[in-house]
Amino acid sequence: MLSSAVPVRADEPPAASAPASASVSTSTAVHADADADADPLADQWTTLKAMKWTQGKDLTAFVQDLALRSGKRALVATSGGSYKKFVCSSEAPCPWLLNAVCSRPRKRPASAATSAARFWYVTSGLLTHSVNCDSVARPTARQLKASSVLRAAVHADARVSSASLVAQLQTAEALHCSKSMVYKAKSDLLDALEAARVAGRASPAVRTALQQLPAYLTQLQALNPHVAAVYETETEGAEMNYPRPEPPSAASPTDGTSCLLRTLLALDPTTVWNDQSVFGLDAMEMQHVGYNGTLLALVGRDGALQPRLHAAALVPEASAAHCTWFLTKLLAHGFPLRRFPLVSSGRGALLAACTALQVPNVSLCTRYVLEAMRETATLALQPTDEALVWQAQRAEAESEHLSVLAQLARQNPAATEYLRALDPSLWCLYPVLARRKMYGWQTTRFEELDLGETSLGLAPLASQLPYEAVKQLSLLAMHAAFQRHERASQWESERRVVTPAAEQLMQQQLALVPLYSVCMSSTHLAFVWNAHKPQIRQRRVDLQQRTCTCACRLQYGIPCRHILAALQKLDALGRAVDFFDECYLVRNYVASFKNRALDLPVEESLARDLTLRPPRLVTKQQRATEGHAKKTKKRKARNRPSNERKRGLYKCHKCQRAEGHNKGTCPYQQE
Ligand SMILES: [Zn+2]
Ligand SMILES: [Zn+2]
Ligand SMILES: [Zn+2]
Repeated sequence: MLSSAVPVRADEPPAASAPASASVSTSTAVHADADADADPLADQWTTLKAMKWTQGKDLTAFVQDLALRSGKRALVATSGGSYKKFVCSSEAPCPWLLNAVCSRPRKRPASAATSAARFWYVTSGLLTHSVNCDSVARPTARQLKASSVLRAAVHADARVSSASLVAQLQTAEALHCSKSMVYKAKSDLLDALEAARVAGRASPAVRTALQQLPAYLTQLQALNPHVAAVYETETEGAEMNYPRPEPPSAASPTDGTSCLLRTLLALDPTTVWNDQSVFGLDAMEMQHVGYNGTLLALVGRDGALQPRLHAAALVPEASAAHCTWFLTKLLAHGFPLRRFPLVSSGRGALLAACTALQVPNVSLCTRYVLEAMRETATLALQPTDEALVWQAQRAEAESEHLSVLAQLARQNPAATEYLRALDPSLWCLYPVLARRKMYGWQTTRFEELDLGETSLGLAPLASQLPYEAVKQLSLLAMHAAFQRHERASQWESERRVVTPAAEQLMQQQLALVPLYSVCMSSTHLAFVWNAHKPQIRQRRVDLQQRTCTCACRLQYGIPCRHILAALQKLDALGRAVDFFDECYLVRNYVASFKNRALDLPVEESLARDLTLRPPRLVTKQQRATEGHAKKTKKRKARNRPSNERKRGLYKCHKCQRAEGHNKGTCPYQQE
């Protein structure tokens, strides 16, 4: 039975008898508890000898943990009904060894009670490894799942990659894991959390915190009259004919409580009239392990060229019902969605909701177009391809747009085909050049927003639970309001006419003026052209009407190089400030932002709404209907719980046991 050549000393308590084969004793035996006073290893040995386990698997788990704590892996060399032998996993000979037996009562058991008195205990062994031992801390699946590093990483970001987890486990706990093993552990962890969340079993802390949301929103609105802060529960959503996220099941509460469905925070809409008159509309999936809803956001940009978050909502998903709800709330609050051009992401039903609500001037975000292209399996984009896509978007004439596409077709035909299938008036500038002033917006500008990660040291917004996200959004709004107040005060005291960012835009144009020739037609009408280009393209500048036929003047509302050249010719550059749009004027910035502080509720004073339960997780089937079918299918097959698997568990090719491991993770030593 004993295949090991390493001599061991059996040391049995008198009450039990070990199998005879375990009682090997030779002259070279190691007496591990000889110097218990001096050696910590000996202390450990003494403790070990005093321990008892009623279940064999508990003993195995204990020995595996013991080995892992010292950076090694223990293998089960022999496992029988009353005898177990554990050895070190080292390939090089290593003497580390533990023998354990199960006690057997002397007399035959009279009842089940006496038979339950059987226990496992360690008889002999050696707790030191050879200097040549090459065993590493390779955890079992059970040990991996118990890892606090793994749990913390998955809780912080449910989409953390297996490769990153492998690296974190290696660095923080010196654990050696394969990617597939980590993937499985992560999936199991997420499944367990999801099952708990779907059943409405959130941790008490999460539930208690969320119950302050209604009071928080009420107080926020009371403190800031121009702010809209609302939430809806599933019960309220159902009354408005919103389909429940799940058919009523045993998990549905019947005690008058209801899960949070959606919540919205919208800031003062009156200040947008002094901004660049464009909106961005975007959607971002939340990635907290306990919340996977979607954040909908309305973005703007002030005259200092800083993006602003006007409003945000947390909804279960970017479905038509929820997107329409978001836009309806924004319109009701006073955001001129039907007046300003709007750049929207194509996520979920955002575009459909715009159409349904007759929001007329919608363009597709170029960043989204690129993302959608990258998600197309047959399409690979190089950085040079992407640069051409941006260029095709901002082309000022169809001819220029087509020549950029032709260039793209030579290096990436599939990408060009994709773009040609899109309606140019949906995503390109040239079809709307004369009709919509876009101020250079090519995207929703959601990506440009400061969400507090670097400026305030906040956690990523996507990794928050709903209540935390609402608080973070309020904090960001307060922070931004104060920053704008300070800038407004400073620029006012500096007697600036336009914002520094607008001034800089003009300086860029001014630097080009020496290239241009000007010919006056009347006192206020000039023709301006670039004398250094082979083809002369004349621009008509009307200083009285403050117009120029170029796209820069048309789209950005700043004095373009042609206007500046004409003014310079007339020695009237001081009049340049008259050619800025209203949004760039400091007096408008001051009117919008000076003394417009936001105040936040004090959390200690907030009453809890005991009927409010945390929102449900959006199930994967629901996501599948939103165009995630491919991904979901792949993931589902991998994560299917064992009792739903069509095939039984594979047998290990090393030990032939069907216990869910393979030869790479086999805990048994070859016999
Ligand atoms: Zn070893
Ligand atoms: Zn111009
Ligand atoms: Zn095996």
